Amino acid sequence: MPRTSQRSAAVPEQLGFAGMPERLFVCTPSKLGAYADCPRRYRYTYVDRPSPQKGPPWAHNSLGASVHTALKNWYALPAARRSTDALPTLLKATWVREGYRDVDQERIAYRKALEWLETYVAGLDPQEEPLGVERVVATKTGVLAFNGRADRIDSRAGEAVIVDYKTGRSGLDADDARGSQALALYAYAAQRVFRRPCRRVELHHLPSGTVAAHQHTEESLARQIGRAEDTARDIMAAEKAVAAGADPDAEFPANPGTLCGWCDFRRTCPAGAEVQGKEPWSAVEHLERAG
Ligand code: SF4
Repeated sequence: MPRTSQRSAAVPEQLGFAGMPERLFVCTPSKLGAYADCPRRYRYTYVDRPSPQKGPPWAHNSLGASVHTALKNWYALPAARRSTDALPTLLKATWVREGYRDVDQERIAYRKALEWLETYVAGLDPQEEPLGVERVVATKTGVLAFNGRADRIDSRAGEAVIVDYKTGRSGLDADDARGSQALALYAYAAQRVFRRPCRRVELHHLPSGTVAAHQHTEESLARQIGRAEDTARDIMAAEKAVAAGADPDAEFPANPGTLCGWCDFRRTCPAGAEVQGKEPWSAVEHLERAG
């Protein structure tokens, strides 16, 4: 299992090595999340070079990317043109086709995506300019050099609010928003980038039209940063050990579980090879049943 090292507060510090500062761990939320889910998957993605070949593209990733890009481009329109009428053209222009079983399934997914977008956009104020749309925010702690692209950062009552779009099957609740390390890291970085408080994080689930929200405190943000730093220290220790000749399989152990069926490296990983893999379109099949 990954090491669990001593937790630090989210205050800048440098790990001393004979007077030399330790290099910061450069990361995104997905990099930290990959290691937390499965250290072996992290190794295949970020350490092994050349990286092992991935499986085929996933339809649910195509669907998610298409919806995200359409919303980004909707906000790029002049406010007067931000209406639901603009959506079919926007969605079509950047629709990602990969991973679907066939054209019929892809058409159903497109129709659903358009429905979700029309309902969602009808609830937005076109005159409201977010602080950022697909905005990269970056910051440093004593351990991390973090950067990540937030779907949207709103300005509300003088505060920044992190908005993350979700297009998966299941709805999300406040615990998901509270427990999301990615959202907390975005909030932590956004308050430094925009020099204003950023405590509220929101998951906007387009298929159900629901919003799951959490209001962080300085302490809860610091706890999440501390956990991210712990993960970063574990990764750096494993990478150093491998560079010094340790067994990479031992330093980046497999963590087999339900995620294996969805893992891009299932064919490379001995633990994953024992698991029945999902079809690239498995996570969008329910859309056909929904009609
Ligand atoms: S198949 Fe499973 S155990 Fe192997 S790398 Fe992927 S998630 Fe980890």
